[in-house]
Amino acid sequence: MTCHRFFLGGLRPGLKFNYSNGGRDRSRPAKAVTGHRTPKVMLEARDISVKYGSRLAVSEVSLMLAPHEVTTIIGPNGAGKSTMLRTLNYGIAPASGEIILDSQPLGSYSRRAIAKRIAVVAQEADLRFPVAVFEFVLGGRYAWSSTSGWGWETAHDVEVAREVLRETQLEELGDRLMTELSGGERQRAVLARALATEAGTLLLDEPTANLDLAHQAAILALVRNRCDSRGTAALVVTHDINLAAEFSNHVLLMKDGKTVAFGTPDEVLTPDLLKEVFAVRVLVDAHPISGVPRITPVHEVLR
Ligand code: ADP
Ligand code: MG
Repeated sequence: MTCHRFFLGGLRPGLKFNYSNGGRDRSRPAKAVTGHRTPKVMLEARDISVKYGSRLAVSEVSLMLAPHEVTTIIGPNGAGKSTMLRTLNYGIAPASGEIILDSQPLGSYSRRAIAKRIAVVAQEADLRFPVAVFEFVLGGRYAWSSTSGWGWETAHDVEVAREVLRETQLEELGDRLMTELSGGERQRAVLARALATEAGTLLLDEPTANLDLAHQAAILALVRNRCDSRGTAALVVTHDINLAAEFSNHVLLMKDGKTVAFGTPDEVLTPDLLKEVFAVRVLVDAHPISGVPRITPVHEVLR
């Protein structure tokens, strides 16, 4: 079953994700990838290599994140996906190559200036501390504060946090502790905190891990909506190739720290490239509703 059926019939009526815009109206993405690409680039990696000690984890990878676009990184465990995300947020300095944020080298920004422009949802975030959902989401505004300590938030910060809770359908859970949420609700709260930053770039490392089909699609639909409605640029690491095909404008396929392919889902999600990266034979056809590539693994039957 694909996420379509969940969107068409499986989500509770209150969930109003702008699916048709995100999933099917691909006029902007199609334009963006056939030579009329928006020239503005939010965040760009130029031939970056990253080392842990003497070991190369990422080797000469380039990437451009543009407003209104969702880019996904796909690849096996250990391919260097998380390392790429950490490097783009300057959590790790690259051994070589350049990272450009809003036309300036990333290294020329202060930590705080980066935090206003790039929001990150890390893969191994420890979310099991007993803070109320509203406070947790409000924490996303901290980079904007002019004072520290209690009471740093302004009326505007509170309003932004409330608005984001509405956007992520968490309004009724604002007083609930993060420790008292289901997996899907907690992942939405983590995304809500990132959205509350109002950063122009979102970097999300496996934001849908451990979620069921409907909740995975819901998270990606929220990201897609942000990009469509506010011109945000998003980079999402995911293991779900079909969701990547559905929601992204570009896909970066990585293996052993290197770029295997970078392009539109149509260009990258091909049987040959997927076999090269995952060593699994797949069938690729057009999704009957959206027309995006649909990937089905073909498990060889032993005779
Ligand atoms: P992915 O997210 O694609 O699974 P990672 O970026 O986490 O891959 O890891 C890429 C490579 O770098 C792997 O070989 C991994 O073992 C190594 N690596 C990741 N984090 C560290 C670290 N903190 N110290 C040393 N090696 C690391
Ligand atoms: Mg990872």
